[in-house]
Amino acid sequence: MEKIMLTGDRPTGRLHVGHYVGSLRRRVELQDMGEFDKIFIMIADAQALTDNSDTPQKVRDNIMEVALDYFACGIDPEKVTIFIQSQIPQLTELSFYFMNLVTVARLQRNPTVKTEIQMRNFEKSLPVGFFTYPISQAADITAFMGNVVPVGEDQLPMLEQTKEIVRKFNAVYGDVLVEPEILLPENSACLRLPGIDGKAKMSKSLGNCIYLSDEPEEIQAKVMRMFTDPGHLRVEDPGKIEGNTVFTYLDAFSRSAHFVEFLPEYADLDALKEHYQKGGLGDMKVKRFLNAVLQAELKPIRERRKAFQKKIPYICEVLETGSREAERVAQDTLDKVKRAMQINYFENDDFVNSQVERFGK
Ligand code: ATP
Ligand code: MG
Repeated sequence: MEKIMLTGDRPTGRLHVGHYVGSLRRRVELQDMGEFDKIFIMIADAQALTDNSDTPQKVRDNIMEVALDYFACGIDPEKVTIFIQSQIPQLTELSFYFMNLVTVARLQRNPTVKTEIQMRNFEKSLPVGFFTYPISQAADITAFMGNVVPVGEDQLPMLEQTKEIVRKFNAVYGDVLVEPEILLPENSACLRLPGIDGKAKMSKSLGNCIYLSDEPEEIQAKVMRMFTDPGHLRVEDPGKIEGNTVFTYLDAFSRSAHFVEFLPEYADLDALKEHYQKGGLGDMKVKRFLNAVLQAELKPIRERRKAFQKKIPYICEVLETGSREAERVAQDTLDKVKRAMQINYFENDDFVNSQVERFGK
C-alpha cells in the first residue's frame, strides 16, 4: 500500500508554537525522510468558515499567513502538495454522503467538539456546519487515501470518527476507503501544548499563543508573563513542575545543546527540575532560560518567513498548482465512491441497460 500523509491547519490566525511541536515539526521531518509516496497539506478554509462565517476577510488573509508559516518551517512544495480546501468541491460532495453514516448522538459525544462549542459560546446557537466538521474532516483525509495523519492530541476523536466512517462505508459499499492512523508527537508535552496562560491548549481562537512569527521582544514578554507555580512565592520555596507551563515548554523545546549554550551549570532538564522542586531556584532564571531556547528555535523560522514574504506571487502559484493536483486526486476517489454507492449512472451503459432489462424492451 502507498504511504500517504495528510494534515492541515485552519486559516484562523498565524501558526503558533503549539502547531510546531504538535504537528508541523514532524511533517517537515517526515517530508525530508522521503518515505512517503505522497504528502498533502491542506489549508482548511472551509472548516475555518464553520465558526467564522461572518468574517470571510479574516479567513482569506490567514490563508497566506498559514502558507508563509509552512514555508518558514521548511515545508517544501517540491515534496508536498499544499492546497486550499474550498477549491476542492469533491470534498463537500464526499462529506454529504458520509453524513448518512454518522448519527447525531455520535457527533455529540466528540469531546474535542464539545470543548470547542463551549469555548465559542455555541451552546445556544450551534452552526450545523461546525457541529458536523468531524465528518468533513473524514472526507478530507479519505479523499486523498491518507493513511498517516501527524496531528496533536485534540485530533484523536476526529481520527476515531474517520475510522468509523471508513469501516461503515467499506462494510456497506465495499472496500474503497483506507483507514488512517494518527501519528501523535512522541514527547508528551507536545501532545497538547498549553497556552501561555497555562489553562487550555494553545489555540489561535483563544489568543494565548506564541506565534512562529513573533518578534524577539514579543516572545520575551510572553515568556515573562507565563504561568508558573502559584505556590512558588519565594526563591527558596520548593516549586511544582506539574502544571507549570514554563517547564512544560522546556519539556517540549529544550535540548541538551541548549543547556551547554545557555545554562551550563545544569547538566540537563532533569537537574533543573530537581533544583526547582527542592527550592532555591527562582522562576526568573527558568524563564530567562526558556526565553533563550525559544529565541534560538524561532529566529531561523522568523527570518525564513520574512524572506518568503517577498515572494507572495510564487506562494500563490504553489497553492493554485497544489489545489489543481489535489482536485484530480479527490476526483479519482469520488469516482470510486460513487461507483461503489451505485450513483455512477452515466459512467457507462450499465445503468441504461439494466433498466431496459427491468422494464422489458
Ligand atoms: P483554532 O483555534 O482555530 O481551532 P488551533 O490553534 O486549534 O486553531 P488548528 O488549525 O485547529 O489550530 O490545528 C492544526 C494542527 O495543529 C492540528 O494537527 C492540531 O492537533 C495541532 N495543534 C493545534 N494546537 C495545538 C497545541 N496547542 N498543541 C499541540 N498541537 C496542536
Ligand atoms: Mg483547532
